Amino acid sequence: MAKTDYGFETAQIHAGYNSKEHNYAVSPPIYQSAAYDFASVQDARNLFQFKEAKCVYSRVGNYTGTILEERIKVLDGASGALAVGSGMAAITYTLLSLTEEGGSILTTPYLYGGTADSFKKIFPRFHVKINVAKNIESPHELAKEIQPDTKAIYVESISNPNGVLLDIEALAKIAHDNKIPLVVDNTVATPYLFNPLKHGADIVVYSATKALSGHGNVIAGLILESGTFDWNSGKFPYFAKKHWTLRDENNKPRSFLEVFPDAPFCFQIRRHYLAYLGASLSPFDSYLVLLGLETLSERVHRQTKNAEKIAAFLTQNEHVEWVRYAALPDSPYNKLAKKYFPKGVGGLLAFGFKGTDKQLETFIDSIKLFHYHVNIGDVRSLLVNSPQTTHGELEPHEKVIADIPENLIRLSIGLENPEDLINDLTQAFTKAFQ
Ligand SMILES: *Cc1c(COP(=O)(O)O)cnc(C)c1O
Repeated sequence: MAKTDYGFETAQIHAGYNSKEHNYAVSPPIYQSAAYDFASVQDARNLFQFKEAKCVYSRVGNYTGTILEERIKVLDGASGALAVGSGMAAITYTLLSLTEEGGSILTTPYLYGGTADSFKKIFPRFHVKINVAKNIESPHELAKEIQPDTKAIYVESISNPNGVLLDIEALAKIAHDNKIPLVVDNTVATPYLFNPLKHGADIVVYSATKALSGHGNVIAGLILESGTFDWNSGKFPYFAKKHWTLRDENNKPRSFLEVFPDAPFCFQIRRHYLAYLGASLSPFDSYLVLLGLETLSERVHRQTKNAEKIAAFLTQNEHVEWVRYAALPDSPYNKLAKKYFPKGVGGLLAFGFKGTDKQLETFIDSIKLFHYHVNIGDVRSLLVNSPQTTHGELEPHEKVIADIPENLIRLSIGLENPEDLINDLTQAFTKAFQ
């Protein structure tokens, strides 16, 4: 199912769905059922021996979610996919799974606020050390920061809120030289702008809450795997270990690698984390993500074009200290943008407000068209003072490391007429400085 000859725009509407298998329903049905009948005792036996991938109980999988998983597999060229209840569930399940037998994660200072907070507050409590790399942007130096117990490198392909880009191929090489996976949060980029698996990443996580859905009506997460990572190298013995729960018809225990050779990582999380920790994505929310995905390319294309216009406007504005948007020619990330993002770098940008705290407050309170809230990737344009909100839990020295100055304003550009957005920003600047 994951292979398709269709282009991205076609796959986002059709992949993973055949109406003949669903009573000829044109739109993917919402399978709002907690559980599914076994057809017979033999059928139940088959399912518990994993001979068929049918749904049994919706905490572990439902058929609307299956369509979503098959579709995102095609869009990302993945061998396995798993839908979960939120982007944070995708991140925590992925990293807890990789460190189940202990170890640490090497990460970047440029992270989504919730991720940074969980790295500080949750993972250490589970005895997982998170090391923030000093040299994430100079791969040769970064190799020296890998410890014997490092179990993964974790980065964002376009960082939130600063739009930092990293050399994903160089990071993948360092990870693979050390027999560990590169995990990429591709939320801001979406598979339309960037395909991490194609550039060497082994696992991709998404908050499907954001641009993947685009309507801002659902909280959802996705985990994908490349199918090419070597789980047998000895660093992750759990995957090769024989489990009684994976036994065959002769009661012979088997390993995740034996039973799910294409997608051992996603199946391990499905069997253990969804089954026992339970952050599943509901059938209805799976449907809402599918609905959004159908227009992904059109939305992200327009958001990118609009954001380019807004970025150009801001660079010319006397009340703007700097603009962070990798598509700008003077951005330190422009070279990486050209290499990895031929279709542009999306709708997220940040700028430094040049004025007093009071003027900044008046500016935000004067905005009429932009929504003022913490989400991103929506069809509506959004604005937020990140250092005081989304990244407000960072301590002052952490904000310095994450490069989030107090005058940073983050914009997530939507699908409105760009002139209206520019007019809104202009009138708010005028009010702030009159
Ligand atoms: C929002 C976001 C998350 C968390 O996703 P939720 O769906 O809100 O749990 C993770 N990473 C990035 C980059 C995000 O923007």
